[in-house]
Amino acid sequence: MEIPIKTLWIQVLERLQLELSRPTFETWIKTASAERLENNCLVILTPNPFARNWLQKYYINTIARVVQDIVGHPVQIYLTVIQGDEVYFLNEGELSQTVSIQNHILENASKSRIITSELNYKYVFSRFVVGANNRMAHAAALAVAESPGREFNPLFLCGGVGLGKTHLMQAIGHYRRKNYSDSKIFYVSTEQFTNDLITAIRNDNIQGFREHYRAANVLLVDDIQFIGGKESTQEEFFHTFNTLYEAGKQVIIASDRPPKQISRLQERLCSRFSMGLLADIQAPDLETRMAILQNKAEYENIILPPDVIEYIALNYTSNIRELEGALTRSVAYISIWGLAMTVENIISFLEPKIEKLPATPEAILSVVADALNISIEDLKSNSRRREISWARQIGMYLMRQHTNLSLPRIGEVFGGKDHTTVIYSCDKIAKLLENDRTIVQTLRQLSDRINMTSRSQK
Ligand code: ADP
Ligand code: MG
Repeated sequence: MEIPIKTLWIQVLERLQLELSRPTFETWIKTASAERLENNCLVILTPNPFARNWLQKYYINTIARVVQDIVGHPVQIYLTVIQGDEVYFLNEGELSQTVSIQNHILENASKSRIITSELNYKYVFSRFVVGANNRMAHAAALAVAESPGREFNPLFLCGGVGLGKTHLMQAIGHYRRKNYSDSKIFYVSTEQFTNDLITAIRNDNIQGFREHYRAANVLLVDDIQFIGGKESTQEEFFHTFNTLYEAGKQVIIASDRPPKQISRLQERLCSRFSMGLLADIQAPDLETRMAILQNKAEYENIILPPDVIEYIALNYTSNIRELEGALTRSVAYISIWGLAMTVENIISFLEPKIEKLPATPEAILSVVADALNISIEDLKSNSRRREISWARQIGMYLMRQHTNLSLPRIGEVFGGKDHTTVIYSCDKIAKLLENDRTIVQTLRQLSDRINMTSRSQK
């Protein structure tokens, strides 16, 4: 029996947390997530190519071993990258059959042909919250997804940054692929289109470029505002557009402003863009913002109290990417510090952040000993006197926060304690932090002092 992917990943995280240092764990492992496990392939999403390469280089074997331990048989690990609006698969092979997001990227890149960016698996209609601000655009997108090349051609989606244009246009692509098995859905940013053209010119392969783009059934072109002033791109796009349009193929364009406001846009393109439907997306109202947060929380299995939703929604009003970012960062913060999800706790975070500068174990020992009025020998001793074991627990917790030592190493610094003692201490302090404001204060002050010593040592 396959174990659910979420459960598997939680177990993997628990194991890796013990094996790796805290910064390693937090920087490289926690930011990744497991996407699916199929046919003995585990697909892991990483936030950027750098993280992906780092994991590939240093941790892939560790991850594979831990996963094998848990599922009981060898598993191949595939590391992929989510970047902005795109998901990249950097490995080929069986993978493209086991996942719905196909792999144009490497296949094409290796032949230095045109690369069509892939669709982000999250950008589907079911995850798009409809409100007064986007109702028209949403309805138009659905209509186009159902019958492309008919009524609204081109569909021109227009709206400010982070308001859902890319999401909505990719949802059309997903819909066609899923319900009509249409594989000729091309999504491309204007920048990519321009780069492809430049490459084609350099390689003397304009013909290949044209054939590629003109083979689309649905062409999704993102951020067209960047075409302003680029004469040859405009020229080429004009012809691509006409060919597709005349063949009854659908074109969908997204822009942060209406065609007329795109500077240095040829008149003929401007009029083509205005030929179909111009649907604009406005900033969402409070209810819609709350619904978006709720929706995201449900997908990610996060429980959010209503007042937390309201607090975030009230404070991030003009950009849904930032709204979601505030939620994601709050959740990360709450879990790192082991706090409860309350407005009070996230205010202190979303407002100026507490810095945690890297520090030496010695500096931490001496700050803790000094502030809590005991000796460093006591911290390293086996004494169970209350104030001493309390100070030791705080010291271990702070060492986890301020250094990249592994749990066993921290145990050693404290006079050779077992790593389970370190875990116990860190958990205990984390729990106390949840309920006791004075402890939050104490730890902040200690953190500040540690920061001060590390600054003065620089
Ligand atoms: P744009 O392309 O307009 O800059 P995006 O489509 O990239 O914006 O959207 C930014 C983020 O906000 C994405 O993560 C997207 O999923 C999310 N988002 C935008 N609009 C909605 C919505 N109506 N419902 C749910 N999520 C949304
Ligand atoms: Mg976009």
